[in-house]
Amino acid sequence: MEHAPAQSLTLETPVQYLKGVGPVRAEALAELEVRTVRELLEYYPRDWVFMPEPVPIARMQAGKKVSLLGLIESTDYQSYRRKPIFEVMLADATGYCRVLWFHGGYLANQLEPGQYLLVHGTVSRYKHMLQMANPKFIILDGPRANAAEPFSGPVYPASGKLPSWQIRKIIRTHIAELSALMPELYRPEFCTKNLLIPRAKAFEGIHNPADDKQLAAAKRRLKYDELFLMQTGLALKRYHLRHTAPAPVIAVDDQIDSRIRKRFPFLLTEDQSRVIAEICGDLAKNIPMNRLLQGDVGSGKTVVALYAALAAVANKLQTAIMAPTEILARQHFDSIERFLKGSRVRRELITGGITGKKRQELTGRICDGEVDIVVGTIALLQADIDFAALGLVIIDEQHKFGVHQRAALRKGRNPHCLVMTATPIPRTLAMTAFGDLDVSTIRHSPPGRGDVITRWVQPHNRDAAIDFIRQRLRAGRQAYFVYPRIDADTEGENGGNLKAAVEEYRRLKERVFVEYRVGLLHGQMTTEEKRRTMEEFRNGQLNVLVSTVVIEVGVDVPNATMMVIENANRFGLAQLHQLRGRIGRGQNKSYCFLFAETEDAEAVSRLEMMTRSRDGFEIAEHDLRLRGPGELFSTRQHGLPDLKIANIVDDFDLLGLARRDAFALIAQDPTLTGPDCAVLRAELIRRFGETLGLVDVG
Ligand code: ADP
Ligand code: MG
Repeated sequence: MEHAPAQSLTLETPVQYLKGVGPVRAEALAELEVRTVRELLEYYPRDWVFMPEPVPIARMQAGKKVSLLGLIESTDYQSYRRKPIFEVMLADATGYCRVLWFHGGYLANQLEPGQYLLVHGTVSRYKHMLQMANPKFIILDGPRANAAEPFSGPVYPASGKLPSWQIRKIIRTHIAELSALMPELYRPEFCTKNLLIPRAKAFEGIHNPADDKQLAAAKRRLKYDELFLMQTGLALKRYHLRHTAPAPVIAVDDQIDSRIRKRFPFLLTEDQSRVIAEICGDLAKNIPMNRLLQGDVGSGKTVVALYAALAAVANKLQTAIMAPTEILARQHFDSIERFLKGSRVRRELITGGITGKKRQELTGRICDGEVDIVVGTIALLQADIDFAALGLVIIDEQHKFGVHQRAALRKGRNPHCLVMTATPIPRTLAMTAFGDLDVSTIRHSPPGRGDVITRWVQPHNRDAAIDFIRQRLRAGRQAYFVYPRIDADTEGENGGNLKAAVEEYRRLKERVFVEYRVGLLHGQMTTEEKRRTMEEFRNGQLNVLVSTVVIEVGVDVPNATMMVIENANRFGLAQLHQLRGRIGRGQNKSYCFLFAETEDAEAVSRLEMMTRSRDGFEIAEHDLRLRGPGELFSTRQHGLPDLKIANIVDDFDLLGLARRDAFALIAQDPTLTGPDCAVLRAELIRRFGETLGLVDVG
């Protein structure tokens, strides 16, 4: 086998040239995406255990903290207890020990009879027997698979071909030499100020820590680096967005302000006024605004958006308002119409349905500056639309964050940009996935909203719920019945969904609510059919509206005070919250019934959260914890790699610190050409490629 000479060892050297690796192991490592020395160093352990040598079971004593090594003879999960217990009987040549984990249900598919198990914990006495509760553990490959296998240290994510202890052995052999290759990213003062140990030391400490303290310091440093690099990437991205081309200044003086406010038949709430001030602050500068406006459904975002649009109009600039669906675009247009009745502001709705000559005429007027506010869907992005003087782009994303659409619209022009979302974004995500945006938040909805009561309805209570709904229908209220997508069945992707909704529609219409008018709304209807059905529901001709999730986006019927969500366990939290936002829009008390039969722990947790809270932020945080950040909004959306060691939920404080430092650095040296920045710069380019605009500068 060929070994590269020691002096030429670099971070890019293939692992195969390391002593003890060779082609077979190199291949096994490659399957774990470890090909180079750098990738080996960045192959972080998933856990660390510190366990002293095991003692024979017969020699353990109550009150002592020891390690035991034995064979699992049997396992038992007692889920019926108030505190469920997962228990194993561990045996060695000298005796037995009962080992148990409270709430250990998750262990049921890890631990099984016949495995060799190393446990470390405190021995206690229970009914004349010695036992060990909630120990740390490692599953071993055999009685003592290899004498070289130490009982403490890092545990690596392993593969069938390469167990953790072999990875550990490879890394441990070379760690001192390899970690020294990792160059420092920051100036010494910066490390000192932020209590960061040197980078090379951190790599050594993460793979081969002497103790908990050293490990903690190593973890902190590497997490910080990961977060700092991410935040620097975001800061650069933001810098370039703001500095490629100037935006038109939109100035709002007192006269314009009061003229706009007069358009609304109500006083703006404190939150709305604050958010408007934030937006006006941005618009007054020639740096393009890039702001996210978040607030629950019904919190009054549309009104804020219209304010901004009218501010642009007052400055002789055009505004484009985009919604994800045609229904929603139309609704925005309708509510704008309501506020602008009798105004000279020229506004148009443009949709995919408008074609041919009509479209040509309309786009011509937009191009000639004869339209002030254009509302539309994605169609607005199409190449044939040119604006005479586009000053502001408003994108209502609801919860479908179309990061790329945003970029596309900006191409070649530099208007101010306001993105609205009804999915409250937890603080951590606002700093990561949306880290290049400024965020404005409406927390409190306008007054005069009725309460919303949410109940999880089990099958045996369905009839009672239906009776209750019937009573309220009699009192003149209206109800939604929503059906999720049922698992794709024989009829294909949307067939199941549609079929279930159609069947339920028939059943409700012909058997349950015979005396009422029941309508149906689903995604395969034509736009015109959908519009007509919505109109009938809005003006009360329909009492009950059965629908697939299409109503999720954009329906505002204050008299609709009831909602049944069928198979609610199949919806995510964000979606449930979003759906529920359709009720509780008027003065009357509203009721949301979640029909669900499930024992799935996550589904139960979601349903309970819904019955407990109406606060979108609380729900979003819960969702984030439940599903993890990756599931919700991948940072990949922004072309940023996923995090390997830091976690934006658990490491929130460190994230805040890294963000502050990164943004301060970019404010000071936006091209990172300073003499101390060379390593950092190279690392950013390596991680993020050319997307950050660093390459053209350098
Ligand atoms: P969102 O876009 O956040 O869902 P909207 O702007 O559509 O919310 O507002 C929801 C409803 O509340 C609309 O009927 C709107 O006219 C009304 N509304 C908005 N702001 C106020 C306010 N300050 N006072 C009273 N009603 C308001
Ligand atoms: Mg709205």
